[in-house]
Amino acid sequence: MRISARQVFAKKSVSPIPTPPGSSFNRNHALEGANQVEGAGQPSRLPQSAALWARCGSILIWIVCALFGQHAFAVETPKAERHVVVVVWDGMRPDFVNQENTPALWKLANEGVVFRNHHAVYPSATNVNGTALVTGVYPGHSGLIANHDYRPEIDSKHSIDVEIPKVVEKGDELSGGKYISIPTIAEIVQSTGGRTAIATAKTVGLLLDRHVDPDRGRNSVTLFAGESRPRDALTRIVDVLGPFPPFGQFAQGDKWTTKALTDFLWKDGVPAFSLLWLGEPDLTQHGSAPGAQPAVAAIKSSDENLAAVLSALDRQGARETTDVFVVSDHGFSTIERSVDLRKILKDAGWNAKTEFSDEPKPGDIMLVGNGGSVLIYVVGHNATITAQLVEFLQQSDFAGVIFMREPMTGTFRLDQAKIDNGAGGSRATWTGKPERVDEPGGESINQHAPDVVMAFHWNDSKNQFGVPGMIDADWQRGAGKGTHATLSRFDMHNTLIATGPDFRRSYVDNLPSGNVDLAPTILRILGITSPQQLDGRILSEAMVKLDPAGAGSKPETKTNEATKDFPSGTWRQSLQISRVGSTEYLDEGNSVFVPKSRDGALRRPDIAAECLDH
Ligand SMILES: [Zn+2]
Ligand SMILES: [Zn+2]
Repeated sequence: MRISARQVFAKKSVSPIPTPPGSSFNRNHALEGANQVEGAGQPSRLPQSAALWARCGSILIWIVCALFGQHAFAVETPKAERHVVVVVWDGMRPDFVNQENTPALWKLANEGVVFRNHHAVYPSATNVNGTALVTGVYPGHSGLIANHDYRPEIDSKHSIDVEIPKVVEKGDELSGGKYISIPTIAEIVQSTGGRTAIATAKTVGLLLDRHVDPDRGRNSVTLFAGESRPRDALTRIVDVLGPFPPFGQFAQGDKWTTKALTDFLWKDGVPAFSLLWLGEPDLTQHGSAPGAQPAVAAIKSSDENLAAVLSALDRQGARETTDVFVVSDHGFSTIERSVDLRKILKDAGWNAKTEFSDEPKPGDIMLVGNGGSVLIYVVGHNATITAQLVEFLQQSDFAGVIFMREPMTGTFRLDQAKIDNGAGGSRATWTGKPERVDEPGGESINQHAPDVVMAFHWNDSKNQFGVPGMIDADWQRGAGKGTHATLSRFDMHNTLIATGPDFRRSYVDNLPSGNVDLAPTILRILGITSPQQLDGRILSEAMVKLDPAGAGSKPETKTNEATKDFPSGTWRQSLQISRVGSTEYLDEGNSVFVPKSRDGALRRPDIAAECLDH
């Protein structure tokens, strides 16, 4: 079967999002006097590998560089007096940034650069975006494709949490240290002799610096949810601050982590690269919903921790030499309906489970819920079962966008979501023509790739607190609560504000940008070139002392569509993508089912979601 995807190609010079979550960030009010030239200063994207090869200068050195691969980092111009601090506010929607909720961040936004069209990586989940932030590549190139996935070689009966120590260690053991196949900023900085400090209130921290090579970065520390690498780094912190607060005390956990960074990891000065990951407002938004009083209080708590970081930089006399990024990993939505896909598929006759009690048999189906998306693994990759399952989903009223390992009518391939690299075969290009891919080291397909990834359906209606962005989501949380990980524009658009000596002042950047752009931009600031080709670009249009004319093209936007006809109507799914230079960003994706009969008022009357109002 062939894909019937139609490419609807359109060039736009304006933001593709009519009312983005960040639109309340009205620069006319928020940022008086900001330079508002749309697309002013086009970004330059220097392929990092090309730059290194150019510097290598001779064939002999080229071979040496190639042999040493990722460890052949080069420092372009030593910038001893430059520091980068990234502060992640987990799940922070851009439309909640204002003077009242976030006075410290508001001040930073007015002084520095506001990225008005910033993008998360799909699935819009924490560990996926944490990895993208520090590698500069999409999940298809890092191998980290979800918060929870199924890797039979690690556990044949259960899905795994991708960031927990025993999984990470086993993954590195099985892959020769390539559990995340691209080095992270921390690893790269340590390779060039620099010091790093990672402090995360959530478990995501281990993915940011796993300390795979114990001989490297001996004076660099990773703290994650009260654990540490090296392990003994925790002792002196706990002696003074006490143990990391138990799960549930989210504000205290963030405060503990902030203090551990500023008072301990920065004790002997601010390192070249620091990252602080605050669990709020994500954790409280899950327990309540965006806009609820506790969620707004959680946003204030993150702002107080940001203020503490800025004060610490002032005390260190490092403010003038430090670039500060405040970013969220993803946006946030409210659950309209909780969909028990396990029960729906079981009732329809499939052997679909979320864990196997015995060794799985060919044709068994493993469902791995990730909130706003579900990963589906068909044991043995049986094509008939997979096709029947997908046709069932296409006639349901909860499926948003369906991506597949193998092409099928009315779906997109995994590489179109950038959750597979398409290597060894062909992958989608911007123009829609398949391109042959021979990536070095690329296997035919990510061996962990699910057979099907389904993003749930979403809409832009408002929740009980007047906050737009409603989604269907999996069985793990009830209607009315907050979650994310869909292709909704409210999940895929997140917060980025940057300020410091390398950034323009009082500038609003309307060019599309994304979490994959942070690593190339940070490495450029630190004067380091990675030999790896990264998916992200240097955000040069927002920076000083960089030639902004590199890309020389206006941002473009297109929408891919895929349709399938059924006796009762037509399924149509779409995916909107923006591009700056060669970097692409997923804007949003959704579906409609157009019934054939005129009186077919319901979208998909055949298969309705089971709503769980718990
Ligand atoms: Zn998150
Ligand atoms: Zn979350």
